[in-house]
Amino acid sequence: MASNDHFRRLNYLYQLSAWHTLALARHDGEQALARAHARTLDLVAKRTRAKLLPQLKRTLCKRCHRLLLPQRTVECRLDASDSLVLRCRCGSAKRFAVGLDRDHKTFYEKPGNLR
Ligand SMILES: [Zn+2]
Repeated sequence: MASNDHFRRLNYLYQLSAWHTLALARHDGEQALARAHARTLDLVAKRTRAKLLPQLKRTLCKRCHRLLLPQRTVECRLDASDSLVLRCRCGSAKRFAVGLDRDHKTFYEKPGNLR
């Protein structure tokens, strides 16, 4: 069970990764550091069984652990079937069916499910 210390560590790692991605995006070495922090975040979340908010999970690439920031590390476009496609620099893509159900809420976004 994840404790408050785990969530503090996850929060710190996410912010560290975001800082490295934003401030030092031009250098490959710094990207590697940002990705290493995001990878640690993923490992800690899995080992402690902490549930990351969907808003955070959507901004992390599962394949290369890169923080997905529009116009910096990810390319966003709408495809023919009205899906939002986020394509990471590594080539992996996340698809969101935004046009189908605009009122869709994930489990944690529904009232009463967030602890
Ligand atoms: Zn990626």
